Amino acid sequence: MSDYISREELKLRIRNKIYDMPKNSDGTMNQADAMFTDGMYRALDLVEHMPSADVREIIKVEAEPNKGEWEFFDYPYMGYRCSKCGAIGNYDHKFCHDCGIEMKVEPTEE
Ligand SMILES: [Zn+2]
Repeated sequence: MSDYISREELKLRIRNKIYDMPKNSDGTMNQADAMFTDGMYRALDLVEHMPSADVREIIKVEAEPNKGEWEFFDYPYMGYRCSKCGAIGNYDHKFCHDCGIEMKVEPTEE
């Protein structure tokens, strides 16, 4: 299974590693660190020029984003109220009589 990552995030992390490499007081590096840093610049170049995979971003949305529901309450008496405006209503009404929002259709238990 393929694993997709953010190119920009990876480049940022590589650049941060390069930035964090130890340096001498005069700004130079010892030979090993200089070679390692050169390797990271090469990796950065590979990441930059790697072809993109053919993927699509998935945007998740609520199935019924603009619907309300009748919420049961039992104090000081039993009934149902609109989840949007709080109006007391009848649970089998398809719309709130007060704010007009459409209610989710709940399966009835029998
Ligand atoms: Zn309402």
